Amino acid sequence: MKLYPLVADLAGRRVLVVGGGAVAERKVEMLLDAGATVVVGAPAVSPALETWAAAGRINLRVSGFEDAWLDDVWLVIAATGEPLLNRRIATLATRRRLFVNVVDDADLSSFHVPAVIDRAPVTIAISSGGAVPVLARLLRERLEAWLDPALGPLAALATRLRGRIRERLPELGARRRFYERLLTGAVPGLLRRGQPALAEVEATRLLIDAPVEGEGSVVLVGAGPGDPGLLTLRGHRALHEADVILYDRLVSADVLALARRDAERIEVGKEAGHHHVTQERIHELMLAHARAGRRVVRLKGGDPFVFGRGGEELEVLRAHGVPYEVVPGITAAVACAAYAGVPLTHRDHAQSVRLVTAHCRQSHDTVDWPALAQERQTLAVYMGVSELATLQERLLAHGRGPATPFALVENGSRPEQRVITGTLARLPQLAEAHAVRSPALLILGEVAALASTLAWFGAAPIGEQSQAGVSSVDEPALARTA
Ligand code: SAH
Repeated sequence: MKLYPLVADLAGRRVLVVGGGAVAERKVEMLLDAGATVVVGAPAVSPALETWAAAGRINLRVSGFEDAWLDDVWLVIAATGEPLLNRRIATLATRRRLFVNVVDDADLSSFHVPAVIDRAPVTIAISSGGAVPVLARLLRERLEAWLDPALGPLAALATRLRGRIRERLPELGARRRFYERLLTGAVPGLLRRGQPALAEVEATRLLIDAPVEGEGSVVLVGAGPGDPGLLTLRGHRALHEADVILYDRLVSADVLALARRDAERIEVGKEAGHHHVTQERIHELMLAHARAGRRVVRLKGGDPFVFGRGGEELEVLRAHGVPYEVVPGITAAVACAAYAGVPLTHRDHAQSVRLVTAHCRQSHDTVDWPALAQERQTLAVYMGVSELATLQERLLAHGRGPATPFALVENGSRPEQRVITGTLARLPQLAEAHAVRSPALLILGEVAALASTLAWFGAAPIGEQSQAGVSSVDEPALARTA
């Protein structure tokens, strides 16, 4: 079961802690820190608890547990160290619809107390769902070391300025941009160096200079082939800053998941939801959102400038005076080659590589087939699944050898990646036999033979022999499993 994270405001609210030992003491300390009105009940309590009671910081009930302790409290923590009593408290509290935490008993608890990183007013809570508290603590240590010590003062400063910020920048987009400048610019540096007064001056200056209206823009971002690890840092950042994301069907869900949570996501895949989103419609959407002052990310599979119509989109933006940027992505040829263990060039096998598309039937007549059929070069063929027979026929007709190796990479870099290898002589047959579907990229050339020895990612390549009915597994596959 997944837990629902809450951050509770306990200021002035009564919370019952049952137990008087060191564990109870730690819980009480945290509750007091959060401003709760703490009631502690136990037959005997630690010296610290006694001191706090004497100082009026907690209400102490020195006796065995009584049901009436549950009256008028918001939360209950059972830290008695007695399993039976803890269970009874949990049952009674639950009956009254009170949230209860039984220390070290996830099953009896209806709320858990997470590991906390305190950079007040920023709180980072880490929960392992009660299953592996050590993991939560480990994460906390790592995050502690990594977090900027100025985080707390920075958030406090932003809180102090909040009213003025709202007043000066009523528009949400402009405000968000200002906050980003505030939180990442010179201000945190000044706080880190212990100069809070200067930080305040700088923050005020930023606010006075901040543009009142958000200027819309478009960032053309290459999402890469699917593995989110292949997204560039700049692309990641653009996704974080986006107000609107117009994404293609090829963009993987894992990459999209990295985007800012409240960014509006619009699928403009050419076959999105089975209705056709035309290129003109995509242009309209980009312009409309940018003109409304939003930051638009136009997210495309692979690289936006490799068979991505990125050029056309920039021409439109330029014509309408919308500012734009381009963030390259790892194109399918580069990614599929890497994830299939096929070097696109190789001193012994290929001195050049060509990225080609086999998309439009009519374009076959304008293609320079003799050049494509040359030896010792690698072809990376995009969008070719339905065109493989034509491709094979033309290449053979123009002199490429039937024994030329190929590797057909389906869903490259994704968990479901498949690599089919063989020779040009049987390319369409093998693709059909293995029911290869889009997205798939064909790598054709001498280098493709290396897939069988250099493969490292996902399932082993499916070789030609296995299809031809030869019973033995091909050697490279054996070498890998050995
Ligand atoms: N701009 C993209 C290409 C878009 S054209 C890029 O740079 O990669 C779409 C074609 O790209 C698909 O038909 C397929 O041939 C190829 N492609 C994209 N992602 C792929 C993937 N993960 N695996 C295999 N081929 C892919």
